[in-house]
Amino acid sequence: MGFPGRVWAEVDLGAIRHNVRLLRRRSRAPRLMAVVKADAYGHGAVPVARAALAGGADGLAVATVAEGSELRRAGIRAPILVFGDLSPVGLRLAIRERLAVSVHSVPSARRIAASGVEVHLKVDTGMNRWGLEPAEVGEALRALGRPPEGVYTHLACADSDPEATRRQLETFDAVLAAHPFGGALVHAANSAATLWHPHAHYGCVRPGIALYGLHPAGDAGDPGGEGLRPALTLRSYVAAVRRLESGEGVSYGLTFRAPGPMLAATVPVGYADGYRRALSGRAEALVRGRRRPLLGRVSMDACVFGVDGDVRLGDEVVLLGRQGDEVVPAEELAAWAGTINYEITTGLNPRRVERSYA
Ligand code: PLP
Repeated sequence: MGFPGRVWAEVDLGAIRHNVRLLRRRSRAPRLMAVVKADAYGHGAVPVARAALAGGADGLAVATVAEGSELRRAGIRAPILVFGDLSPVGLRLAIRERLAVSVHSVPSARRIAASGVEVHLKVDTGMNRWGLEPAEVGEALRALGRPPEGVYTHLACADSDPEATRRQLETFDAVLAAHPFGGALVHAANSAATLWHPHAHYGCVRPGIALYGLHPAGDAGDPGGEGLRPALTLRSYVAAVRRLESGEGVSYGLTFRAPGPMLAATVPVGYADGYRRALSGRAEALVRGRRRPLLGRVSMDACVFGVDGDVRLGDEVVLLGRQGDEVVPAEELAAWAGTINYEITTGLNPRRVERSYA
């Protein structure tokens, strides 16, 4: 095992480099911006950013100025775009750290105009969350008083609804045709669009989830089928083994009752680590290369799996990822928990889950 923690995430940086190269091959765009927000979707922003750049990414994207600043403090000099809205303090920090910022509104274009900071205009083409309405783009350009370095939009259902995606791209194309953007970098494609919508590629693709080898459909789909390599394995170990007699209950609420004599292994991972309580009674983990059922409720620091006599104290437990020929993909864990793979990896608690990089 070789790692001293109670629960740890092993991140395969070779998989990140492989996924970047694969996405570059699948893309028509000359550039790729690797989305490493939310601590690289729970994988660790700095090592992942370095691996993505080594794999051929031209730049990085984050959600907040603080996330961009963390990368700069680590010595990363590549272009970094901040997707989120900016406070005045955030703008000052973005200028100091040489981060490119997103303009989401006409007032924000006015505020940023004199700053000289690199600007990407974000256009709302139908997601109705962030960005300038198409009708506001002219006013935002006038307020800015100079051509932006980039113009972009975000797709709401590139993983699920080609017709809605086509309508968003049509709206975006109309905005691009209506205004003089000069040499601005045009971008729209998240992972799903990078894989499946070449018309969304423009000058740069902007994948996030697929960099980590996870499927953009969230709780379904096989990333291996796309040639992606999942990067994260979540491991722990068997900390106790006890014998249950028929009818004995397990964990809070005693919601699982042993149907007959059986063995139960306690594993020191719980919902405070990001192993979600919604997995209670549903999930499986791998011990000695075989699937073992989660018994009863996940508690804050521990949970219990049904095992056989072959399991020993200290055996490695894989909660997410591969062990031998078996695998628990993030998509399956997400389906058990009623969520998406994005939330499974970003939900790992970095204060408790140690990380190691290979
Ligand atoms: N672009 C923007 C603006 C985003 O907010 C995100 C993530 O939510 C992405 C790209 C990457 O999306 P995905 O992780 O689905 O590839």
